[in-house]
Amino acid sequence: MSSHETAGRPDALLDVRDLRVSFPGKGWRTPDTDVLKGVGLTIRPGETLGLVGESGSGKSTIGRAVLGLAPVRSGSVTFDGERIERAGARRRRALSRDLQVIFQDPYTSLNPARTIGDTLAEPLIGQGAGTREARTRIGDLLDRVHLPSDAAGRLPREFSGGQRQRVAIARALALRPRLVICDEPVSALDLTTQRTVLDLLLEIQQETGIAYLFVSHDLSVVRFMSHRVAVIHRGEIVETGDAAKITSEPDHPYTRTLLLASPVADVAEQRRRREASEQAGTVGRA
Ligand code: ADP
Ligand code: MG
Repeated sequence: MSSHETAGRPDALLDVRDLRVSFPGKGWRTPDTDVLKGVGLTIRPGETLGLVGESGSGKSTIGRAVLGLAPVRSGSVTFDGERIERAGARRRRALSRDLQVIFQDPYTSLNPARTIGDTLAEPLIGQGAGTREARTRIGDLLDRVHLPSDAAGRLPREFSGGQRQRVAIARALALRPRLVICDEPVSALDLTTQRTVLDLLLEIQQETGIAYLFVSHDLSVVRFMSHRVAVIHRGEIVETGDAAKITSEPDHPYTRTLLLASPVADVAEQRRRREASEQAGTVGRA
């Protein structure tokens, strides 16, 4: 491959091209499952790209492939100008400074036997911080996610789901990453808590200029969070564009179907969408 290809798009923080991921079949005659069939997407510094699609469409697999946790068959993942789709363990460890993740389930993503302070200290110490430096940084991080400083001495079970997700956010932010992959970060939370966690993610972005790959099956959540949106259907991106445009007047029939399935508070708006979609003759397709 040429060095030109290696550089990716000059203004992109993350540039994914023609990414194919296949999982090997379980039995000796079971064929491989092609989960990503040539996915492309770009995220600029400070930008949120929403990734939306129904369950099983391959959203988490994209995030996992970027993190080096899925079997990449072909294609490229370029982060800050560097190809990382085949990065080894050592390079991955260095990359974890810039590239972090928040998972859906705040009940399983934190070690139940560790205090919040120990959980937050781990990445800091792992990257060479001293104990005192780590302690100061942990105070700042708890403050940043609006948790009390005495949270450091407590265990995950003493916290609600929303508070645990704040801890997971603080852990992701510990090393001041430039991109955080948020994989359904509020899907396990009740509606009121969802909103406060989303507001926190937006506030952090405003203050730090961090970029997000924001994964959700919920179009209304994606619309709230994103600058641009990519729609995935059965392992292929079917539509990408401005968030407001895609979530109100999508071009692709599959996105229109998603839009109809997404609960919208405004009933008149919902009716308008349904009529528009029926006119386009797309109901029941895709
Ligand atoms: P989403 O996050 O959009 O719900 P996923 O990326 O988790 O979807 O999964 C996409 C498809 O890949 C699903 O059909 C799933 O069963 C399959 N898949 C995911 N992980 C594995 C794996 N480790 N082995 C085999 N198949 C997998
Ligand atoms: Mg998923």
